[in-house]
Amino acid sequence: MTFTDTRTAFASGTSSVNDSVDGFLSRIAAQSELNAFLAVDTDGAQRQALESDERYASGLQRPLEGMVIAVKDNIHVKGLPTTCASRMLEGFQPLFNATVIERLIDAGAICIGKTNMDEFAMGSSNETSAFGPVHHHLDHARVPGGSSGGSAVAAASGMCHVSLGSDTGGSIRQPAAFCGTFGLKPTYGRMSRYGLVAFASSLDQIGLFSTSIDDMQDVFSVISGHDPMDSTSTQGAPWSVGERPLRIGAMPMSQLTGCDQQMIDAYSAYRDALAALGAEVVDITVPHSETWIPTYFILATAEASSNLARFDGVRFGLRVDAEHGDITTASRTAGFGAEVQRRIMLGTYVLSSGYHDAYYTKAQQARRRISDAYTDIFGRVDLLAMPTTPTTAFERGAKKDPVSMWLSDYFTVSANIAGIPAISLPFGSDAAGLPIGMQLQGPMWSDELLMATAGRLARTA
Ligand code: GLN
Repeated sequence: MTFTDTRTAFASGTSSVNDSVDGFLSRIAAQSELNAFLAVDTDGAQRQALESDERYASGLQRPLEGMVIAVKDNIHVKGLPTTCASRMLEGFQPLFNATVIERLIDAGAICIGKTNMDEFAMGSSNETSAFGPVHHHLDHARVPGGSSGGSAVAAASGMCHVSLGSDTGGSIRQPAAFCGTFGLKPTYGRMSRYGLVAFASSLDQIGLFSTSIDDMQDVFSVISGHDPMDSTSTQGAPWSVGERPLRIGAMPMSQLTGCDQQMIDAYSAYRDALAALGAEVVDITVPHSETWIPTYFILATAEASSNLARFDGVRFGLRVDAEHGDITTASRTAGFGAEVQRRIMLGTYVLSSGYHDAYYTKAQQARRRISDAYTDIFGRVDLLAMPTTPTTAFERGAKKDPVSMWLSDYFTVSANIAGIPAISLPFGSDAAGLPIGMQLQGPMWSDELLMATAGRLARTA
């Protein structure tokens, strides 16, 4: 049941927000073994539900009155802990709401709880959470994807209407694909990052999961836009092509690195579905795709090593008093898991004076080329189609070495590198019944067009 449908029933009094919230709370409780939530605000949600019902009764409802939202645990919600699924921040309570949360609450939405994730949003499987992995709702032996795995499972299995995640290199689109929901990574700057714990600031964006594109569009219009608290946020007109048919570039089959056969078959069907929409579909080879993953992991780790330096046991984060050595080393050793430590070390290395030019400067140059290639592509076509992931949801423990895990982000990182918006949409399932996700990318400011087109496509899948 989408919020768009229920809202009418709330307004006519045939159902209540209170009952709806109770339904969400009981589905969360019944599926607690999935480990999708790190905190559930039962009292707060019930209290707000009563207020929403009063507003509906008196005709004073706001645009999202009674909509239930789940929030990734790296986005601040006042009154609830923010842990980033790390021991480093265990027990931390933020003193303010993220801007996106403030806007949701002002519009009448109800934040039902905080969702599990990979530690500090580093991962593609939700196995790096310090509080245990999230399980795929359709097959508990499989991963839901990451790093926003809890938000994906919450949206896919009826624990909220819409959930918030963050996408630095695919952390919304990849779990959305694995779990069978829509997943939007907006244009860089369209949603305020104020109150999002930074991983790699030039790549991070807050975005949305939903099984309903209408619900996603409603939330997007409420929370996007300029925020004086985030100097990278912008206000501007959505990009549109008007009435003419869309021109869509499709990554050629020869560029589908690492895809299994079922994904290749689904992609071929996806291209047909794009054409069936009335779009003109042309093959577009995307230049420099071999540089996407190395560029992303150099830039993301460099920025992470700087952003996470504040968690030193003195100014912020867990403090471990060392018998020998210093507090900072002891605190960071105890507070950060293996993947976070690996990224900090790699990032420190690529920024070190002897290697800065060879790695970080080179990666910045590669970033420019990747962005320029997209500018060129979007001079020729309106949107670009490719798969979201090379495979469907894999088994927990299947990717033991970090590089094979990192390679699973092949199709998602380039949108973050270029700052462009991208959406993953559910497009059928594999032989085991696991969801398949397909992706659409667009030029800056095409978020609305991406959502509208994804909605039309999903109906044909
Ligand atoms: N999977 C990617 C990584 O591990 C992306 C993470 C993200 O988008 N937060 O860095």
